[in-house]
Amino acid sequence: MEKVYDYVIVGGGTAGAVLAARLSENSEVSVALLEAGAGEGPAIMSDGNPEAAVGLWGSSVDWNYTTTPQSGTGNAVHTWPRGRVLGGSSSINGMTHLRGHASGFDAWEKQGAIGWNYQEMLPFLMRSEGARGGDPRFRGQTGPMTIEEPPAATPLAQDLYDAAVDAGHPRCEDGNAPQAEGVFWAERNVAEGRRQSAADAYLFPVLSRPNLTVVTDAQVRRLVIENGRCRGAEYVRNGEPGTVHAEREVVLSAGAVGSPQILLLSGIGPADDLRRLGIPVRAALPGVGANLHDHPLAWISYGVKKSPVPGPSRQAMLFARTGPGGDPDILMSFTAVALEPRWAGAQEGFSILFGLATPASRGSVRLSSADPAAYPLIDPAYLTESEDVDRMVAALRMARDIGRADSLSAWRDEETLPGREAVTDEGCGAYIRRTVGTYFHPVGTCRIGTDDEAVVDAGLRVHGVDGLSVADASVMPSVVSANTNAAVLGIAERAAHLIATRAER
Ligand SMILES: Cc1cc2nc3c(=O)[nH]c(=O)nc-3n(C[C@H](O)[C@H](O)[C@H](O)COP(=O)(O)OP(=O)(O)OC[C@H]3O[C@@H](n4cnc5c(N)ncnc54)[C@H](O)[C@@H]3O)c2cc1C
Repeated sequence: MEKVYDYVIVGGGTAGAVLAARLSENSEVSVALLEAGAGEGPAIMSDGNPEAAVGLWGSSVDWNYTTTPQSGTGNAVHTWPRGRVLGGSSSINGMTHLRGHASGFDAWEKQGAIGWNYQEMLPFLMRSEGARGGDPRFRGQTGPMTIEEPPAATPLAQDLYDAAVDAGHPRCEDGNAPQAEGVFWAERNVAEGRRQSAADAYLFPVLSRPNLTVVTDAQVRRLVIENGRCRGAEYVRNGEPGTVHAEREVVLSAGAVGSPQILLLSGIGPADDLRRLGIPVRAALPGVGANLHDHPLAWISYGVKKSPVPGPSRQAMLFARTGPGGDPDILMSFTAVALEPRWAGAQEGFSILFGLATPASRGSVRLSSADPAAYPLIDPAYLTESEDVDRMVAALRMARDIGRADSLSAWRDEETLPGREAVTDEGCGAYIRRTVGTYFHPVGTCRIGTDDEAVVDAGLRVHGVDGLSVADASVMPSVVSANTNAAVLGIAERAAHLIATRAER
């Protein structure tokens, strides 16, 4: 079966759902969206409680990736959930809606992504948002992505918030403000108590458009490239091969793992690596798959003297900085259970989670084989830069100051993690290396820029190949200082605008 469309979008995750909906608003163009996963998932996928998301990891809607052994974390192999279903990772994520500090976007332009800064991104971040209230100068109120007023705080959730204030952190009215710093209540992508994935918000409401074709269970194996131009994509569906052709553009939105993997399988990437695997080189682009990074995440946990009232509850979060000057580089959140390391389980108690918002460590996504069905080698290089360990140790100490604050004295029992093991910097560092894991925010593997290692230009077009763009988390030169979904929504909104506008010329 061969079909021709104006646009072919590969991957129906956060970015792909936005692109399919926005590009098909023009009834004059035809759009095909190919998604490797299914159209829907288990019932808990629509549960609006973020803790329920843990039940989706390792399920049929998760790619179930693992990392390569990580030298920075005692050679641990980390499980790496990624959504494989319409809505992609927004269908299995924690639903936190948080853009990050303006400086995280401005950092993109400083690395050569001309025109990709906070001010230029702001209209697109706002376009995606359906926030309740907020400052209309920087909050979008009419966008598809609903942000519901969170439930009231349970007593423990309120005391965790107050403990952050006791420890000297300012109250921050809106965590999505451009200069947000201090403690705030998290916003979530929840509508009427149910998860709102990007597919729920953007794609499902427009599925009946005659110019939009959505093909699920279709895993793209490689791109069709002829004379330096991308003409379409080859996929496999139920064991049968198929090809779709694009008259105007193919847009890769397969995420920080999938997009570089498809480019590499198509002969676009580091030439020597491709030749070694027997893949003909179509465009030598050394940066494809490089620059992989993620926020490292760890936590401290406490037992409690009395049982907390069970949720639902709003949840406090915190932007803080490890050093004087600079921008916030630590993101914290709080749970009303005492988590065991790397999500191994939970006891009665509470935890204070801390992630490094601006990690320095950089890894890669590489092919393990020329076989499109083989999983790639994912190396996030956690804690390979010693400054990341130092700042995580500083964050642990900050978290401990909050855990020991007066507002928690009615609850707090023993510090169960790390406890007495981590007193000195060495002890804290060893604990961090032993327990750190993914914050689920990989980015950077097809980054925007103009240097030799950049993969796409400021219009998101792949260097050296016509008719091919990338629009998803992979194009971020560096990770934003918060959970990544809101930023990806903004990138995809902007990509849709760029792609539609250049077609008009
Ligand atoms: C467990 C978890 C918790 C998270 N929690 C939060 C949170 O609370 N808040 C937040 O802001 N962010 C969170 N994130 C991160 C956020 O969800 C992601 O940054 C965002 O969804 C990435 O969007 P994307 O479009 O780049 O990729 P994805 O949404 O992952 O979409 C990629 C899509 O491409 C498809 N695909 C891949 N390869 C192929 C192929 N070869 N052929 C066809 N289709 C393919 C995939 O199946 C997937 O549907 C979390 C992520 C995870 C996994």
